[in-house]
Amino acid sequence: MGLEEKLPSGFALTTVEQAAGWVRKSSVFPATFGLACCAIEMMTTGAGRYDLARFGMEVFRGSPRQADLMIVAGRVSQKMAPVLRQVYDQMPNPKWVISMGVCASSGGMFNNYAIVQGVDHIVPVDIYLPGCPPRPEMLMDAILKLHRKIQGEKLGVHREEAAREAEEAALKA
Ligand code: SF4
Repeated sequence: MGLEEKLPSGFALTTVEQAAGWVRKSSVFPATFGLACCAIEMMTTGAGRYDLARFGMEVFRGSPRQADLMIVAGRVSQKMAPVLRQVYDQMPNPKWVISMGVCASSGGMFNNYAIVQGVDHIVPVDIYLPGCPPRPEMLMDAILKLHRKIQGEKLGVHREEAAREAEEAALKA
């Protein structure tokens, strides 16, 4: 008989890491960062019809210092790129990024000098969401996938550190 089966009802076993992951994923605060037409769908997702509050995150924060999720909704112009990076840098760790729509992820139809050809040139991206524009259901699906990622993350290891460690390990191999 396993330990869990021996426990009286009302008890559950978990780890600190699992509990922290659950708390983090259940209270993600997105920064207000709409850039183009995709932002209309992002705003719709936050409204009553889709009830994003079910997932603990309907409040979009006006200050990046109070946010831990950046949803890049729309194409990123070269002029906006340093601003986007500054907003990202102002967000406290741990933080995550969803690239919403084909323009944010690759420049989309704007294959020209004025548009950044993928926001991952500016900030690290956790989830790439296809579509032009992605519907609110698709954004919610991306958010739920991000929740699963957050749940599995190691406590105290930020993405930049993890990436650096992976890079060093690859160089040593
Ligand atoms: Fe607009 Fe489509 Fe680009 Fe989104 S992916 S910013 S909807 S053109």
